[in-house]
Amino acid sequence: MEIFNGDRYKEERIYSLLSRKRFLIYGLGSLPLLAAGAVGFTKIYKRNHHVTDIVEYPDHILREQSEPVSRITEPIIALSKGMISTLRYYMLIEIKDLCIPLGLSAPQVGVLKRVIVCGIHGEIYTLVNPEIVEKSGSYISSEVCLSLPQFDEREVKRPYHIKVKYRALDNKERTLVLSGRYAALLEHEIDHLKGRLYIDYPEVLHA
Ligand SMILES: [Zn+2]
Repeated sequence: MEIFNGDRYKEERIYSLLSRKRFLIYGLGSLPLLAAGAVGFTKIYKRNHHVTDIVEYPDHILREQSEPVSRITEPIIALSKGMISTLRYYMLIEIKDLCIPLGLSAPQVGVLKRVIVCGIHGEIYTLVNPEIVEKSGSYISSEVCLSLPQFDEREVKRPYHIKVKYRALDNKERTLVLSGRYAALLEHEIDHLKGRLYIDYPEVLHA
């Protein structure tokens, strides 16, 4: 079982990005993209890194139920790889905005399977058939979503602690215990598998 506290999420994210060799490689490699912001460079980068287009609201796919994965097969491993590349791409171009959730669900790349990828402590995890088996407390989470670019950030109420059981790509059952921002991130992505979006939650109103 792995336990992560997301209370220092933003600081951890900066640290984990800056401390990773991969960041240097990807960062330097994409400098022309970042500097010019040119459509041409973006296209070449996307093609070379197998970045998938994101399904955007109000596409009906975002409202469908995803199917459980019965076996970890090559197509599931390929799906995970594509989702990770796509997530990394958005991590790079959205680096200025440290509030963006570092997660992606299969329906967001047009596949109705119970698969999500999430960045936790600088690593990207693939969770197959994730289930929240325990939740407690409450946490006000500021959220956006790659599939809903036309919507503003919204504060929603999420559990503070969650325990998630899932199958990893090595076919083993695993458990993650998460709190704060990480718990909110995981619940947001698992919601996508049920066709639920963050805009379905009432906005937290401050007195
Ligand atoms: Zn989302």
